Amino acid sequence: MRSTVSPNRIATHEQARRLLTELPGPRSRALAARRAAAVASGVASVMPVFAAEASGGVVVDVDGNSLIDLGAGIAVTTIGNADPEIVSAVTAQAERFTHTCFTVAPYEGYVEVAEALNRVTPGSHSKRTALFSSGAEAVENAVKVARAATGRSAVVVFDHAFHGRTTLTMSMTAKEMPYKHGFGPFAPEIYRVPGSYPYRDGLSAAQALDRTIEAIRRQVDIGDVAAVVVEPIQGEGGFIVPAVGYLSGLADWCAEHGVLLVADEIQTGFARTGDAFACDAEGVVPDLLTTAKGIAGGLPLSAVTGREEVMNATVEGGLGGTYAGNPLSCAAALVTIDRLTSASMLERARAIEATVRPMLERAAATDARIGDIRGRGAMLAVEIVDGEGDPDAAAAKEIAARMHRQGVITLTCGSDGNVIRLLPPLTIPTDLLVEGVEVLIDALAQVA
Ligand SMILES: *Cc1c(COP(=O)(O)O)cnc(C)c1O
Repeated sequence: MRSTVSPNRIATHEQARRLLTELPGPRSRALAARRAAAVASGVASVMPVFAAEASGGVVVDVDGNSLIDLGAGIAVTTIGNADPEIVSAVTAQAERFTHTCFTVAPYEGYVEVAEALNRVTPGSHSKRTALFSSGAEAVENAVKVARAATGRSAVVVFDHAFHGRTTLTMSMTAKEMPYKHGFGPFAPEIYRVPGSYPYRDGLSAAQALDRTIEAIRRQVDIGDVAAVVVEPIQGEGGFIVPAVGYLSGLADWCAEHGVLLVADEIQTGFARTGDAFACDAEGVVPDLLTTAKGIAGGLPLSAVTGREEVMNATVEGGLGGTYAGNPLSCAAALVTIDRLTSASMLERARAIEATVRPMLERAAATDARIGDIRGRGAMLAVEIVDGEGDPDAAAAKEIAARMHRQGVITLTCGSDGNVIRLLPPLTIPTDLLVEGVEVLIDALAQVA
């Protein structure tokens, strides 16, 4: 089970699902009891087991059970868990220094990450980047920058949006339970509008865009709108892929009205969707782009990258943070960004879709509760519905729970909680991926 991680070989645990105990096993149950006595109950976990080690497409728990990872820690370990090159880059950096604070004594790694992000993000215009620690922090700072650059205050966000858990970003997030429940008052000057959700609204891109613009006009003076913040494929909201042409139409409308388009690519970025960034699929070039999750192989890092004149509009000292752009995270990001924008990784994400989608489509042919199969690359989901076509959250929850008991890590999402999402690391072996999806299809059959 154990393997030493050395940079000289691809150190992986046996890439197999293997259950030695029922889940959770005795060690996980003991840890769960300690957790309940020590950790705030508002912090929840999807899986009932505690992790010990992970690599490739498996997570090994404290009882020695080896689980198939179809979650990648919420689209974070896209490059694989404990990737040997990342381990050695982080170790080497830790031996040099662990922190100076970039706003106190700057270091090259931060600059290199900014250069890399300016190069790989959509658009060939002159860009600047600022680094932070969490996704929410990146979104907050994108809003700060957009307000400073435009002198406007309003921010437009979408139904089903997720942008984080801080006061500003939870205000931008759509779903009340659990993200906002009891946590008000919320930040002002946030305006929520419908986007494009083809499975539910049946609208073309042009129709959905008209509806979006009409909803903006009804609520706010467009001359007051600093930014429209959009996830190119909505993540927590249900892996909702807008109709083709919607995002480019939205970008055109923003440009016409002096509104900055902020693409929140925190979940969709870095090869996840089969492109370096989801915006690339439609050739959309946002003014500002937020990244986090997959950026550094699991080390905490986030970024705002955008047009030079926009990013440089804030006062000197207006952006920063004690841990922002931590040197260990930067060392990891330098490994990750290069690899996750390479042709082979983009191909791998597309190959994952080519494997999984036909399996789900075959299952859907005989199972009416698969209402929709959607997503791109290694970001795929099934929306579970009842006999009337309405969201069936109870069934989705039961399917996920069955998968968990069978040793497959999987997550649900969606405003109605009825979407099963698949976010495997790109390093998952194909046979293990197929086995994980078979467990999903079996669970679907059993929750008839
Ligand atoms: C996860 C996520 C965030 C928040 O990131 P944190 O690191 O959890 O703060 C913001 N936007 C999107 C699209 C996300 O998926």
